[in-house]
Amino acid sequence: MCGICGVVGHRPATPIIFEALRRLEYRGYDSAGIATLSENGVIDRRRAAGKLDNLETVLKQSPLSGSTGIGHTRWATHGAPTETNAHPHAAGQVAIVHNGIIENFAALKAELEAKGRRFVTETDSETVAHLLDNYIEQGMAPREAAFATIGRLEGAYAIAMIFQNHDGLLIGARHGAPLAVGYGEGEMFLGSDSLALAPLANRISYLEDGDWCELTREGATIFNAKGDTVQRQIQTIAFMAGQVGKDGYRHYMEKELHEHPVAIGQTLQRITDPASKRIALPDMPFDIAKVPRITITACGSAFYAGMVGRYWLESLARIPVEIDVASELRYRDPPQPDRGVALLISQSGETADTLGVLRSLKKAGQSIVSVLNVEHSTMGRESDLVLGMVAGPEISVASTKAFTA
Ligand code: GLU
Repeated sequence: MCGICGVVGHRPATPIIFEALRRLEYRGYDSAGIATLSENGVIDRRRAAGKLDNLETVLKQSPLSGSTGIGHTRWATHGAPTETNAHPHAAGQVAIVHNGIIENFAALKAELEAKGRRFVTETDSETVAHLLDNYIEQGMAPREAAFATIGRLEGAYAIAMIFQNHDGLLIGARHGAPLAVGYGEGEMFLGSDSLALAPLANRISYLEDGDWCELTREGATIFNAKGDTVQRQIQTIAFMAGQVGKDGYRHYMEKELHEHPVAIGQTLQRITDPASKRIALPDMPFDIAKVPRITITACGSAFYAGMVGRYWLESLARIPVEIDVASELRYRDPPQPDRGVALLISQSGETADTLGVLRSLKKAGQSIVSVLNVEHSTMGRESDLVLGMVAGPEISVASTKAFTA
């Protein structure tokens, strides 16, 4: 699952999207691409396997015009990391980018091929483009066609779509993969995380699972899975442009190692009462003295942080602690104790396996406490209590300051 950026603006879209893809590079990817609507309303795209430098070379040789566009960094799940399989995928009058996996793509593909549609990639994502174009061809307007398409998809996705002859229109959808709307001045953005949007817009709405949205230069209309218009909170994000650069360090890991004192200081400040100079945790939605067991769940470095937490919780609080990797626990169904507490740890608050565990343990009646660096993330919204770390953006894949915080 990699990165998405979409723009409806009044400036050339390609450089804006390309820079956003650069900021998403930290997530890892194997190929990349951009599609825009040129002045005459036609969709044009450039793609390249490998690093963004390859895409940059292609764009220099043959630039893309237009102020409406979408871009993608791909982490292949279906099909080799080639230029043909790179996103955006185009079919007829539409182009799309997709993060995630369309589980029922084979059935949809067979249905569309039976209607005479020809597929040229090995991806699951191309199905989305053909399905959407199929509805457009039937005479539906873009919004209607997008809604019909989303209704047919199973699996995890964040999608952005553009439509031939519809300059200034961008449609996005989210289900199990993050997508956020950025509000600019006379321009609007879609991004798979707030870092993609950071220098472009500091007012951001996170779509909820099942939400989809229509963006024009003037603003956003957000719909839920039933197609009703919904309001999603617009949050002001405090990331400053400097925080997402390397600040003169050779690489992000070196920079982030040096940010430890600030990260730890800010995090401790959050849970310290300045008057009494004592730790002051927020009110717990349960009686900690009666908690029979804490189940810690996380992935990767957050899991290692949880292992440290287990020692402390057991030795200091004398509460039995279970710890598990989210991708394992998610597919087991262990019995949970009455009044048990689930403690989930995630830097982004969007880790798919950890979010899956959150939901299943919530169903199993556990109180949900999350330790997150991004408090307004999906996990933050679905938790009973959020303990925020204030580590700031962590770009390095190997976590350092977020681990310590
Ligand atoms: N499943 C899609 C593909 O393999 C999207 C992968 C991604 O999230 O980057 O092309």
